[in-house]
Amino acid sequence: MTPPLRVLIHGGGIGGLTLATALGQRGHRVEVAELRGEPDGVGVGITQPSNALHALREIGVLADCLAAGFRWEELTLCDPAGRTLAVLPQPRMAGVPAANGIPRPALAAVLGRAAVAAGARIRFHTTLTELTEEGEEVKVGLSDGSERRYDLVVGFDGTGSPLRRRLYGDAFGPEYTGFAAWRVTLPRPDWLRGVLVTSADRAAKVSLTPVSDRLMHLAALSAEAEEFRPDPRRAHRQLAERLTGIEGPVAEALAEVTDPAAVVYSRISQVTVAAPWHVGRVVLAGDAAHASTPLLAQGAAMAIEDALVLAESLDAEAEVPAALAAWERRRRPRALWVQALSRAVLRQETGTPTTAAEDELLAIGVPGAAHVLVQPY
Ligand SMILES: Cc1cc2nc3c(=O)[nH]c(=O)nc-3n(C[C@H](O)[C@H](O)[C@H](O)COP(=O)(O)OP(=O)(O)OC[C@H]3O[C@@H](n4cnc5c(N)ncnc54)[C@H](O)[C@@H]3O)c2cc1C
Repeated sequence: MTPPLRVLIHGGGIGGLTLATALGQRGHRVEVAELRGEPDGVGVGITQPSNALHALREIGVLADCLAAGFRWEELTLCDPAGRTLAVLPQPRMAGVPAANGIPRPALAAVLGRAAVAAGARIRFHTTLTELTEEGEEVKVGLSDGSERRYDLVVGFDGTGSPLRRRLYGDAFGPEYTGFAAWRVTLPRPDWLRGVLVTSADRAAKVSLTPVSDRLMHLAALSAEAEEFRPDPRRAHRQLAERLTGIEGPVAEALAEVTDPAAVVYSRISQVTVAAPWHVGRVVLAGDAAHASTPLLAQGAAMAIEDALVLAESLDAEAEVPAALAAWERRRRPRALWVQALSRAVLRQETGTPTTAAEDELLAIGVPGAAHVLVQPY
């Protein structure tokens, strides 16, 4: 399609800013409506696996991500006493590391700068209030009182996607998995140069991940009631209760967690839009369409791939609806495979019964999945 298309991206998170950059670089006129007052400021880290780094190289931000993060090549499995059970070299795509840990605010800053440099306009504190498709245009009302017309509207607005609700009501809302993540950012000891994974009685998966030269990220996954919220005065102690019995490097890291406010608690939900991801010229992408549990560390990677493939599909097709259909044909199988396998791994690692279909998926295992995911998307 010949630029410029007028594109509104609803949600300036990881996927939205990647798409804004990719489309801006192609000469499209891009606006981003973001509810927050600044890019993603949640103070935790994220793992960027090799396929995400490969896609980020395509929009020219690989060097900035690596400079702000900490690249690693190996995953070390330990028992709860801290003894090493296995060291697994992680597969990687040519020319990029196996993985990069990075603080989320640093990633948001890199992507925000890239989007603006590509000519995108980011409207903070802004959300969509009206949406009507009129012929070959979408008429949109924004919360700043403006009314605008676009050729394409993309909902990269996360697990709770208001755009998804507009298209499908409550049909495909987030499904709570029964598990939650506890995360804390701490100083990185010099010896931690890859991800370390272990488990505890009340936490199925516990990890230490380097996210910069100075910082690492302690994460724990535990079964929690949907209505449970940590006590703001003693969240660090509640985390420690879940890690009772654990020794070695994780116990040493945990001893440094003394501030309850440093603990970030997130319920783990998944989203499956079991209808087309696009209606006319409005499309859902990233977590809004297919949020998965974080067991493969692939949610943001899938959002980034979605963005790149959408830009490529718009390049290749003559009409927006045809591009959206071609995009979905490429993305749906891979994103839903990641979602299904992540959920199966969650069940396996937490001792929850698995279905026969999940057992078949699990035959490949997490190392096998990593090998599949470094195949070009
Ligand atoms: C505990 C945990 C750990 C994870 N770890 C990893 C990992 O290591 N690696 C990985 O690849 N993925 C990981 N993920 C998944 C990853 O965070 C998501 O898949 C990714 O952020 C999805 O990107 P997105 O752009 O679709 O949505 P988001 O990044 O969530 O962005 C959505 C944006 O929409 C905005 N928004 C929401 N509502 C509105 C509105 N009404 N108007 C305007 N804007 C709005 C939000 O403010 C936000 O900026 C993890 C997830 C969790 C929960």
